[in-house]
Formats: sequence, structure tokens, C-alpha cells
Amino acid sequence: MCLFCDIADHKMTEAHIVNETEKTITVLDIAPANEGHVLIIPKMHADSIVDLPDDFMMDIVKVSRKVIKAFGTVYGARGYGVLQNGGANCKFGHFHFHVFPRLENDGYDWIYPEGVKEVSEEVAARLRASL
Ligand SMILES: [Zn+2]
Repeated sequence: MCLFCDIADHKMTEAHIVNETEKTITVLDIAPANEGHVLIIPKMHADSIVDLPDDFMMDIVKVSRKVIKAFGTVYGARGYGVLQNGGANCKFGHFHFHVFPRLENDGYDWIYPEGVKEVSEEVAARLRASL
């Protein structure tokens, strides 16, 4: 069991539940990028999108859309962010989506590590060949 399995099983009574379906539970992030930042957590332990069945992913996407619509209603947000780190980079080892409203001049930024990265047909071809 992990922290997110505990949240899904209602063992973390401190969690602020925003939504719940048969396949997911959505709670407020305790360290939000903006107010309203939620974590959409599947009720199945997996650390990667590769290991999560399609019906769980479909539910995560459906809930994301509902939450994003709510951001517009609650905050007047015209934009949003969706983030996910997977596999070895999955914090807590349990797949989840971060979904948060983007507000005008909120200071949030997407920062890449420094360094030159190749963008070429060879790179695209290498990935295509492995799909
Ligand atoms: Zn888990």
C-alpha cells in the first residue's frame, strides 16, 4: 500500500475530496501551484501510464475535463495546467494527474533544463520505429 492507495481507500481523513468515481478519487494538492490544484488519482496502484488500463485513463481524462470546466466557473480561469511524472519519476510511486487553474500573471512557468537538444527527422524516425 502507498499514500495514494490510502487516499483512494479513504484512510487519509485529512484529504480534501473534490470528486470521486468508481475508478478515481480527486483531492486537493497539499502544495498547490494555484488554489484549486487537484490530484486525480486512479484507484489502482501503478506508477506508469503504461501499466494503467485504458478505462482508468479514460476516467482520469473525463474528470480532468470536468475539473477544468469548474476552474472557469470558480476562478474565471481561461487556462489550466495538466502535469504528470511517470515511472521512476512518479513521486509516491502511484500514477496521478496534477490539474490546476492558470490565472492571469500567476507566475507559474514551465522550466526546461539547460542544454541543446536535437530536434530532427532522425529523432522522429527513431521514435516512430519503436511505436
Ligand atoms: Zn498506490
